[in-house]
Amino acid sequence: MKPAPFAYYDPASVAEASDLLARHENARVLAGGQSLVPMMNFRYVTPDHLIDLNKIEGLAGIRVESAALRLGAMTRQRDIEFSPEVARHCPVMQEALTHVGHRQTRNRGTIGGSLCHLDPAAELVNMTALHDGTLAVESKRGKRELAFADFAAGFMTTSLEPDEILTAVTIKPWGPRHGHAFMELARRHGDFAIVGVGALLELDARGRIARAALALSGLGPVPARPEKAIALLRGAEPQREAFFAAAEEAGKLEAMSDAYVSGAYRQHLARVLTRRALVEAARRAGERSAA
Ligand code: FAD
Repeated sequence: MKPAPFAYYDPASVAEASDLLARHENARVLAGGQSLVPMMNFRYVTPDHLIDLNKIEGLAGIRVESAALRLGAMTRQRDIEFSPEVARHCPVMQEALTHVGHRQTRNRGTIGGSLCHLDPAAELVNMTALHDGTLAVESKRGKRELAFADFAAGFMTTSLEPDEILTAVTIKPWGPRHGHAFMELARRHGDFAIVGVGALLELDARGRIARAALALSGLGPVPARPEKAIALLRGAEPQREAFFAAAEEAGKLEAMSDAYVSGAYRQHLARVLTRRALVEAARRAGERSAA
């Protein structure tokens, strides 16, 4: 299939791209094209105007600013995968990225595109939820920032206005002694996950869990953050009992069924992968605490 006819623009600045978005109905911005172009070819989406962000300087790049990691929306997934700043401040993102598609798709795909495409199983969406990321958005009407929880509005639906462009995502890294893990089950490597789990743990001086975060993808439209499971972890010894109890809670989360996978199986995966991710995150936190 080929896309329906469209007018193509390659603006040189965000201001120019915002102006085009403000002036044209039924417009879409193009980032890495790894999701949008197949959807256009299958005619799932038929934009009349395609606004290419690839020539805009300054929309890509990885910076550490006042103890936060700032990723430009057009930063390629492959650049994140091999970034020394991300390795130091957010190693779980690099672990998750190894599951995203293939190196060819990661060479073109961007973090902004992944977040705006908002596939329920997208690993970078999981990472942004796990870290309560903040998204910077711009349009002709001005700039605003929103928490990820306010950005993800539903199944593959963001709260961006039609004339808005995501310009960056900011992640607050955890301390140097935290432990991390990302685990998923997909039919084949490179496929979207059936269920994916991101876990972060920080231990206190007595070796107990001082801080915990979990994000589960694939169960519902946006990553689930099981607060009951996290509450069970806080203050606990990083041992089996706590991980099994937290995993049981994660397994109770509502899970969608589709033609391929039942909700019950997704809940089973949530239990198993949460437990494994917590064990691995605790192992790494213990190693870093002892270092
Ligand atoms: P595009 O495809 O260019 O755009 C995606 C959507 O976001 C479009 O609607 C576009 O208008 C919008 N958009 C893009 N940038 C912005 C912006 N800055 N502001 C506002 N709107 C914007 N992804 C995974 O997470 N996990 C996988 O396992 C996975 N497997 C894949 C396997 C294959 C074979 C392929 C082709 C893709 C796979 N993907 C997977 C998707 C891939 O990661 C895409 O890179 C990603 O989903 C979209 O990024 P993109 O930069 O290509 O965005």
